[in-house]
Amino acid sequence: MKYKRILLKLSGEALMGNKNSNIDPEVLEQYCEEIKAVKEKNVQLAIVIGGGNIFRGGQAEALGIDRVQGDYMGMLATVINAMALQSALERHGLYTRLMAGIKMEQVCEPFIRRRAIRHLEKNRIVIFGAGIGNPYFTTDSTASLRAIEIQADVVLKGTRVDGVYTKDPLKFPDAVRYKTLSFQEAYEKNLNIMDMTAFTLCQENKLPIIVFDMNKKGNLLKIAQGEEAGTLIS
Ligand code: UDP
Repeated sequence: MKYKRILLKLSGEALMGNKNSNIDPEVLEQYCEEIKAVKEKNVQLAIVIGGGNIFRGGQAEALGIDRVQGDYMGMLATVINAMALQSALERHGLYTRLMAGIKMEQVCEPFIRRRAIRHLEKNRIVIFGAGIGNPYFTTDSTASLRAIEIQADVVLKGTRVDGVYTKDPLKFPDAVRYKTLSFQEAYEKNLNIMDMTAFTLCQENKLPIIVFDMNKKGNLLKIAQGEEAGTLIS
């Protein structure tokens, strides 16, 4: 395996699949199969899951809700997704721990860096819920920060597209996928890979990011093995 310790970022929005419900059981099932295949190769895995399928802080003001309050609502949304993912992974026989950036002792452990690393060493999948625990951040920044804290080898950003393109591949058929990019190139070309906070954290700490299609069967394992798929930013 190319990577021994991986931080996988999953978006909340992708959990919706094509259904009208917040969580599509088929997507959850597919995620579990992908994750299980990687876990069977003894890769240490931590996961950050977003909350966009339920609530984003950015939506708050239009609803007459205070922005900071909205951000906390978004963080709570990520815990709902994290709990769903935890339960689904356990149904597949995987060992997991949910750690959150906001104290919620009835449902999860608080985030304690050394404890998170210990869980990983014991081969438990660690899911980080509630983001960083502070408003005005995103789960992308959480993914970068936690990845640095647990000394992950790479951040794998699972999306619905198979990498970073010269332009929107859904609108422009002549869009070309980048196989690799430097942080500088991605910045200069204004490619929207992660928000600036998340992106800069990775750049400054020389933490590579791979953007890949999480919905393609076998893709996660392929990437963990070091095969070329998606876009590598390093
Ligand atoms: N959020 C936050 N601080 C954090 C992480 C998340 O305030 O550290 C809030 C923010 O409002 C965000 C929402 O939680 O919009 C859901 O996360 P995100 O939008 O990153 O989810 P995704 O787009 O990955 O589904």
